[in-house]
Amino acid sequence: MIVAAETLLARARNGDKRSVARLLTIVENDEPGSADVLRSLYPETGKARIVGVTGPPGGGKSTLVSRLAAEYRKVFERVAIVAVDPSSPFTGGAILGDRIRMRDRFLDEGVFIRSMASRGHAGGLARATMRVVNVLDALGTGLVIVETVGVGQEEVDVVRVADTVCLVTVPGLGDDIQAIKAGVLEIADVLVVNKADRPGADETARDLAQMLTLGHGRTQWKPPIIRTSAQDGAGIDELVRSIDAHAEWARTSGELESRRAGAAREEVEALLREALVKRLEARIGSDRVSDAVARVAKRDLDPYRAVDELLEG
Ligand code: GDP
Repeated sequence: MIVAAETLLARARNGDKRSVARLLTIVENDEPGSADVLRSLYPETGKARIVGVTGPPGGGKSTLVSRLAAEYRKVFERVAIVAVDPSSPFTGGAILGDRIRMRDRFLDEGVFIRSMASRGHAGGLARATMRVVNVLDALGTGLVIVETVGVGQEEVDVVRVADTVCLVTVPGLGDDIQAIKAGVLEIADVLVVNKADRPGADETARDLAQMLTLGHGRTQWKPPIIRTSAQDGAGIDELVRSIDAHAEWARTSGELESRRAGAAREEVEALLREALVKRLEARIGSDRVSDAVARVAKRDLDPYRAVDELLEG
């Protein structure tokens, strides 16, 4: 391992937050040394609980996540929040900066906050998030909350890395509740109606219950619908109990094992694809590829035949 990464790792293990942050940047961006860091930490991963929180912007997710982190700090010495915003091109951009400052009122030294805002992560944002979670896990974080800013496809992919996924909605979405895509509802283990201090929470809960009956339950788990008011803390206890109940069910039913096996398969297959592509490119040579591309563009060759030729040679 390159010396810098080794020193960082030693400091991070001693709880130095700046070293933890630097290590996370290395693995997030797949910088040199990233594979070595993950290789050496991997045996210590798999212990942290991972809770995902997703939902439309403005629903109160970051307020809710701060509350959850504070609650889980009563149980775990170290809790981390990984806030993921695929739409923002700047790491630690202004919006995330504001969101993080807002959190200070709820949080203490035992909560580590990380924002991931940049685009263009090697191999995709979901995999980069998983690498970050793995490092936090190996460094003794008891529970990691992965929070997304919105509910796009990329965010659904990100939040799927969690053991328990919470979908946060708010009253008054009305027909807009349909905007919560079926794909998001399918991966939700706990449904939250936040801002329940506002009128319409009962209707929203009813609409969600109705939507749930339309879906085909993938498992035996029936997602509970919890009303919260993140601002004043109402319902947070019940939400924690529901998340814990799901985690316990997942552990005993085999769901957790199968989710983690699925994640392991995706990662191994992705790395395999990357390695194979690199090897093939080295063997074929970029000149031959460029030549084939030119012939395809001129219609001298069809793309299927081009690939056959490149692989044969
Ligand atoms: P996010 O975009 O989903 O992360 O939402 P935020 O946590 O930033 O919250 C958006 C706004 O809603 C902020 O002004 C919060 O203070 C407010 N908010 C959060 N939770 C509640 C709640 O339970 N009730 C009410 N009335 N407002 C809330």
